[in-house]
Amino acid sequence: MERLQKVLAHAGVASRRHSEELIKSGKVKVNGKVVTQLGVKVDPAQDQIEVNGQLIQQEQKRTFLFYKPLRVITSMSDPQGRKVVADYFRSVPERIYPVGRLDYDTEGLLLLTNDGELANRLIHPRYEVDKTYVATVKGRPSPAAIEQLRKGVKLEDGWTAPAGVRILSQDDTQTKLQLTIREGRNRQVRRMCDAVGHPVIHLMRTKLAFLTLEGLKRGEYRELTGQEQERLR
Ligand code: URA
Repeated sequence: MERLQKVLAHAGVASRRHSEELIKSGKVKVNGKVVTQLGVKVDPAQDQIEVNGQLIQQEQKRTFLFYKPLRVITSMSDPQGRKVVADYFRSVPERIYPVGRLDYDTEGLLLLTNDGELANRLIHPRYEVDKTYVATVKGRPSPAAIEQLRKGVKLEDGWTAPAGVRILSQDDTQTKLQLTIREGRNRQVRRMCDAVGHPVIHLMRTKLAFLTLEGLKRGEYRELTGQEQERLR
């Protein structure tokens, strides 16, 4: 069950605020009865909801896998007019939004969805979704530094949970690491690498749960199949 104003907003009828106004002014009916109270909960799959006499259609749940390029903000709008992920989704009519975020200077796999439950599930650390990154870092981390990344490093906001770490390649000046973490703190990978003395030069998210960027170029996206959406739940 969900609050009526939330259901209206999700169906794309109006913003949450404006939906509340519609309810208060008696324009909304649930199963044939006018509802003017804001606390009322409805079942969007069962209840018939009308606005100004028109039955509303629930938005289909859609989830997209996007290859976010560098220098794009993980946001649906930017007051300063910089490039945002929404710019790539102008032809999608549903009100989708990013699941978590990638930094402006991070590229790679980002999901966008209008499925609030799915988004919560993927963001909440309790569900422990693996996120894999390839980080190119300065220098050549010692075995001790790698071990520290694996076991957990102390950041301003506490110790990190154990992480998967592999060295993918290395030359005299830099090292390519693959890191798999289950948390999703702000700038976590950068801060972890900083903490062991090897700042990140380039960062890319390559995998989330079982999803990869296979078949996508930078700036491209594809919609998840029904099966993939089910698997994420
Ligand atoms: N960790 C970071 O430091 N940045 C990201 O964008 C994602 C994870």
